Amino acid sequence: MTFITDSSIVETAAPDGRRCAFITGITGQDGSYLTEYLLAQGYIVHGLVRRASMFNRSRIDRIRSTQEYPPERLVLHYGDLSDRTSMRRLLRQIKPREIYHLAGQSHVGLSFEIPEVTCQENGMATLGLLEVLRDLDYPVRFYHAASAEIFGTPKQVPQTEETASNPSNPYGCAKAFATHLCRIYRNAYGLFACSGIAYNHESPRRGENFVTRKITIGAARIKAGHQSVLHLGNLNSRRDWGYAPEYVDAMWKMLQAEKPHDYVLATGKTCSIREFTSAAFLALGMELVFEGEGVDEVGRCSSTGQLVIKIDPRYFRLVDSSDLVGDASLAGRTLNWTPKVVGVEVARLMAVADHEQLQGNAIQSP
Ligand code: GDP
Repeated sequence: MTFITDSSIVETAAPDGRRCAFITGITGQDGSYLTEYLLAQGYIVHGLVRRASMFNRSRIDRIRSTQEYPPERLVLHYGDLSDRTSMRRLLRQIKPREIYHLAGQSHVGLSFEIPEVTCQENGMATLGLLEVLRDLDYPVRFYHAASAEIFGTPKQVPQTEETASNPSNPYGCAKAFATHLCRIYRNAYGLFACSGIAYNHESPRRGENFVTRKITIGAARIKAGHQSVLHLGNLNSRRDWGYAPEYVDAMWKMLQAEKPHDYVLATGKTCSIREFTSAAFLALGMELVFEGEGVDEVGRCSSTGQLVIKIDPRYFRLVDSSDLVGDASLAGRTLNWTPKVVGVEVARLMAVADHEQLQGNAIQSP
């Protein structure tokens, strides 16, 4: 892995731009899986990294640590999407044929606390990138990471590509703005721009502020005796949860398609936070029983009676999205994409990975 300080690396890396991809948000969960996926297919991968006082590159550093690929196959660039001039310069230099735009403020709950940053990073930054692409003098294919949150409180269940957007939080609103703009740029300027309307997709690389990872790390710590209780918010909330590595496959397939199109990427099934939690604990040998209601509901370990789950209203959302379940049949038909790891299966896989990590057994986390 190389950090660009010398533009000659770029020129030798991809003289004609073929099989060369640029990823914004490369250090995130999806960015790291996508990087591995593309490298394995022979791509040269360039990634945009924001300069920060603390390094936040562990997911990408693990790829470098394997030393499977020479440094010129994975090149990181310091930059910021809000700096349009430097983005333009960078893309003219690299000449990627595929751009995967995954960067942005990714937390729905947090978007109520920092709505302006969320709209700037998820909405305006995407528009800025589309404007840069419009002026490029070579053809490029653009993937935009949209979200099920554009549907918020949907009028139709399950949702398809035709369902009207009706976001219920600033995050969903910003993603809807960017999704509409991708379509507008596709129609108006002929850009190969598509949005993946992805439902929740999780993995052992998920950030700990998402409920799935919070649950699986909590279960692993409780199992190991490092923690006694896990505090959660709305246990009745339901999500359409898939497995992140399968979703990056869909992203790539969208950019290989004959025509650009938006696609719903979803499993079509939901499970509740309570069910996800039960599956994660059971995977580590702890069967849970829930008792009580509302904020007084608790979860106990059935064999020991130990209280392990409590409700903390601080985790309740001002408005929670509901009925989010996607119909990915268009992606199934057109891209031959069907997710296999679903809901509680994801919970089991993540809980086992966190348990192994905590035990120090993991050679490398998945
Ligand atoms: P989101 O679907 O992108 O908002 O993903 P999250 O993992 O942040 O939240 C998924 C659902 O879990 C939402 O409906 C939350 O209200 C619910 N939830 C329940 N307890 C918690 C918690 O402790 N933390 C978070 N982040 N969400 C929680």
